[in-house]
Amino acid sequence: MTDSDLMTDSGRVVRPDADGLRRAVEILRADSVVAFPTETVYGLGANAFSPRAVGEIYRLKNRPGWNPLIVHVATVEAARELAAEWPEHADALAGRFWPGPLTLVVRRAAHLAGVGADNDTIAIRVPAHDVALRLLAASGLPLAAPSANRSESISPTTAEHVIRSLPDVPLVLDGGPCAWGIESTVLDLTTGVPTLLRPGALALRALRDATGAIALRDAETEDGASRPSPGMSKRHYAPRATVILTPDVADVDQSGLRLPVGILTYEGSGSPGTEVLSANPREYAADLYAALHRLDDAGVATILVQEPPRTEDWLAVRDRLSRAAAPAG
Ligand code: AMP
Ligand code: MG
Repeated sequence: MTDSDLMTDSGRVVRPDADGLRRAVEILRADSVVAFPTETVYGLGANAFSPRAVGEIYRLKNRPGWNPLIVHVATVEAARELAAEWPEHADALAGRFWPGPLTLVVRRAAHLAGVGADNDTIAIRVPAHDVALRLLAASGLPLAAPSANRSESISPTTAEHVIRSLPDVPLVLDGGPCAWGIESTVLDLTTGVPTLLRPGALALRALRDATGAIALRDAETEDGASRPSPGMSKRHYAPRATVILTPDVADVDQSGLRLPVGILTYEGSGSPGTEVLSANPREYAADLYAALHRLDDAGVATILVQEPPRTEDWLAVRDRLSRAAAPAG
């Protein structure tokens, strides 16, 4: 997208000033959707307990109905009101990490409808972003908000990414690039031992300090070895190009690959078609989606990805890369 294309969208990409927030609240109260920045990625928000508004999220994203949504609230008290019970672990984790990139799954209060899936639980977090918090306060609504992109494609870390993935979005509050650049860590507190449902921005070692043991699902192991289960490596976070993970990009025979080939690595130096991200997992995560967007923009047909180390610090990055590399369909 060029600058002039963005200009034509300038009516819908707005600054998060008083006027922008007023427009956003108006749209949310009319049961439609608004994209807004959080510290993880941009979210596509709607009134969490309006079936019409939530339906609009699924329609715009083309998201499958079985995939539930995270509800964003402004305070711990607002979160507790959505829960049937508030476990001790929730108190400890919320006290330590909210506002922040941690989503807690708890039993849902009986009077509330499910948010996109039929179970009796709810996923909640308090985002650590000034614009998100001001939007929650100004609207007075709990906001269901998945990432503001078409289902399965790369998550947006800028307002421009949102417009490109969802050209029909009614409004985007532009808060600049997201600080974490990767989705929240999702922890299920309805199990005896808290269970990791999705590795994300917050590392497990930090969470364990507050909860003790955390169970990993399926074939995930403590050191974060690979998870071959097909359900878990469903395609997601995927660029247009074919993604191939490899232990050493320099060793790959490129003759059978669709050209041009791009490279995503954390070693060596950059050249056209090669994205060199940080060797620090947090910094790597922060730039991962933007790098995939850049490689797509450069028109590469195949992205060779240097596999990150199989250590727990890289768990979230390796989760996203393996899903980006899962075959379509
Ligand atoms: P997204 O909104 O795309 O960032 O994804 C939401 C994440 O939270 C997914 O991993 C969901 O499976 C998870 N999630 C949301 N609600 C629930 C719930 N009630 N129970 C379990 N997982 C949930
Ligand atoms: Mg998403």
